[in-house]
Amino acid sequence: MADEIAKAQVAKPSGDTIFGKIVRKEIAVKFVYEDDKCVAFPDASPQAPTHILVVPKKPIIRLSEAEEDDSALLGHLMIVAKNCAKEAGLSKGYRIVINDGPEGGQSVYHIHIHVLGGRAMAWPPG
Ligand code: AMP
Repeated sequence: MADEIAKAQVAKPSGDTIFGKIVRKEIAVKFVYEDDKCVAFPDASPQAPTHILVVPKKPIIRLSEAEEDDSALLGHLMIVAKNCAKEAGLSKGYRIVINDGPEGGQSVYHIHIHVLGGRAMAWPPG
């Protein structure tokens, strides 16, 4: 956990990211879902028994930089996130997270939705 906080503190928005390479398939990742707007794949460092990332192909840097024109895309990502949760069998519930910026815990500056489930989630989050 401390490691994740440290990563978020030093992460800097820069042109391309690891997620850019993943959505362009320059890095091989097994997608659990793909359409023309987004992909979904397991988080490499899962924080719950199920931890899926939903990533748009459009490289929006972070939620706070999304624009009105991105509304339909952001809505689509939410629908894909809930479909992934259903597909993963998370019938007892799950958590959807978007981290924004250093204090929000964002370490990759290409917007993404975390889908976390398979255990009871604590509140407040760390
Ligand atoms: P955030 O801290 O909200 O920006 O989330 C970034 C997430 O991306 C973290 O949970 C990382 O474990 C995850 N991650 C980083 N690189 C990869 C990768 N190559 N494949 C899958 N997940 C990754």
